[in-house]
Amino acid sequence: MSTPQADCIFCKIVAGEIPATVVHESPTVVAFRDLTPQAPTHVLVVPRSHYANAAELSAGEPATMADLVDAAAAVARDDGVGEDYRLVFNTGTGAGQTVFHTHLHVLGGRPFTWPPG
Ligand code: C5P
Repeated sequence: MSTPQADCIFCKIVAGEIPATVVHESPTVVAFRDLTPQAPTHVLVVPRSHYANAAELSAGEPATMADLVDAAAAVARDDGVGEDYRLVFNTGTGAGQTVFHTHLHVLGGRPFTWPPG
């Protein structure tokens, strides 16, 4: 669902109720630096609306899904990592999702390997 969730930490960041280092904003998305960075650039791009994961956002607000990807590209450009960056949506606890408000990880500034851990 898309209404703010009282117990959602990313809804609180979007609302400005919890501090975060915001690097990019638009009417539909907010991007802020991850508190536990896994690369020199590690930014989370989140929709202002609350959806639990990428598929729910895509179904509910498909245009905002595109905004997330566009914002990620802008963040990578602004951080100087050019076109070498990794975008990740963890979906479900088994895949490592810990915050159930859609977020696109933007990672860059170091070499990456495949497959991921
Ligand atoms: O994909 P996943 O759900 O595991 O990612 C959640 C991310 O949110 C983690 O990388 C964590 O470091 C980050 N986080 C944050 N600020 C918070 C809570 C979590 O940057 N206040």
